[in-house]
Amino acid sequence: MKVGFLGLGIMGRPMARNLLKGGHDVVVWARRAESMAPLAEAGATTAASAADVARQVEVVISMVADAPDVEQVMLGEHGVAGGASANPAGLVAVDMSTIAPAAARDIAAKMQAKGIDFLDAPVSGGEVGAIAGTLSIMAGGSAAAFAKARPAFDCLGKNVVHVGDSGAGQVAKACNQIVTGMGVLAVAEAMCFAQQAGADPAKVREALLGGFAYSKILENHGQRMLDRNFKPGFKSWMHQKDLNIVMHSAHALGLMLPGAAATAQMFNAMVGSGLGEEDSIAVLKLLEKLSGQQ
Ligand code: NAP
Repeated sequence: MKVGFLGLGIMGRPMARNLLKGGHDVVVWARRAESMAPLAEAGATTAASAADVARQVEVVISMVADAPDVEQVMLGEHGVAGGASANPAGLVAVDMSTIAPAAARDIAAKMQAKGIDFLDAPVSGGEVGAIAGTLSIMAGGSAAAFAKARPAFDCLGKNVVHVGDSGAGQVAKACNQIVTGMGVLAVAEAMCFAQQAGADPAKVREALLGGFAYSKILENHGQRMLDRNFKPGFKSWMHQKDLNIVMHSAHALGLMLPGAAATAQMFNAMVGSGLGEEDSIAVLKLLEKLSGQQ
């Protein structure tokens, strides 16, 4: 299948590579030419704009940052919608970034008005899952659009779920961020507590991995906390963005989410204290600082 990929950052780069490995004909675009170079070397075709990609492919995927970025690459000048009209085969547009469910529904409606099927299909599994092609993919939109994009999804993820109509994928992703946000904070608190209370955090992690406290976050992020490897991964400002999505949606629904609210405050403080570009596990550093720990 001819697949387009827009946005070649931490996640987009390995995802586009996995589409190539899966035998798809891949056309890429990124706003900085240097981001496209490694994909071109790996066999992808480069394009001049998102519109240029949309003219050539059956399915186009974006992996950018937040809702204004998705709006820009889909509906802005030289965006997907501009090129789709010159695509005789018809086009399914898929956004795999994490944005608010309401924004995803709004973009889907605007795309539909231009005759373009749009899926929200955010992912979980991090950079590791993007590289391994083992992401969890949660999609919202029509069954027909999902079926058309499915061969691409199968190269990117192991757990591919059509959650429901437009926005349902982003609702699932917001739920994912409630769990993972609190999970990262919980593991950081445990590591901080172990250290201060006089036990070796590495041994504590090892002991916890065999019981009900087991999680991928304890296993992977716990080890990275022990290694003090704060290279992103998943940037703290992105996790702040995701918890803001949760808190805004909860506000609109009149929902009380006390754990997510406290976690959102921690990520606000991380960005405020200059840790925004570090991995979200750097929440450990903030806890240590607030606790007067070295
Ligand atoms: P990233 O490394 O910052 O990559 C984002 C890419 O999108 C960058 O290369 C950026 O281009 C490009 N971009 C942003 N706005 C754009 C715009 N308006 N027009 C064109 N290109 C634009 O971030 P990431 O970690 O790959 O995350 C991408 C998305 O996946 C986010 O929504 C994030 O929440 C979600 N996500 C991330 C992870 C993770 O573990 N990293 C896991 C699950 C979901 P420049 O390089 O020019 O800035």
